[in-house]
Amino acid sequence: MRLVFEQIRSGGDRNFGYLLGDREAGAGVLIDPSYSPETFVERATAQSLSITHVINTHSHPDHTNGNERALSLTGAVLAAHPMIRPSAPLDDGATLSVGALRLTAHHVPGHCADHVVLYESVHRLLITGDLLFVGKVGGTQNDADARTEWRSLQRLLTLVPGDATVWPGHDYGVRPSSTIALETETNPFLLCPDEAAFLRLKAEWPQVKQRLGLK
Ligand SMILES: [Zn+2]
Repeated sequence: MRLVFEQIRSGGDRNFGYLLGDREAGAGVLIDPSYSPETFVERATAQSLSITHVINTHSHPDHTNGNERALSLTGAVLAAHPMIRPSAPLDDGATLSVGALRLTAHHVPGHCADHVVLYESVHRLLITGDLLFVGKVGGTQNDADARTEWRSLQRLLTLVPGDATVWPGHDYGVRPSSTIALETETNPFLLCPDEAAFLRLKAEWPQVKQRLGLK
């Protein structure tokens, strides 16, 4: 097995999608190939990977608008949380094989009810979608969703090791990727001691962001 893993700038609002595959098996998946699905398919072809699945981290249009084109170009099937009713449902804890690689889906609602993150445990790759960005977390519509997101983040931190690398759905941070250890030490939302502090930081974020000079 040899890992292929590419972070692809798809367009939109600094959106990131991913190509992940097993070079020896010649099999790969596309994750959130929105805005420019052709680019993702070109990269897969260049890497001699046959795409078995298009995976969505969640159902927001800026992550799914390339699905139809990506699926028709590759003949792959859609994999996502069961709420989206995909051909290949990814329940919490479900695994998806990509050649000899194994992706595990974890259900992490909050930013979106059908959100999953994907974890590859051999190389410790964590594709976090819009749950966790470098230096921030996904936006939420109300306090109930923010509480749900807090619980999803706390649970995720118990599921993956500190040296797992973080691969987000948007380039919102000062770097395009991170690690769980770096985020737990520097991400203001993960430094919150409890749920109430997390909710307060969300409410005050525009001012905090300005003060910290963040993008
Ligand atoms: Zn989103």
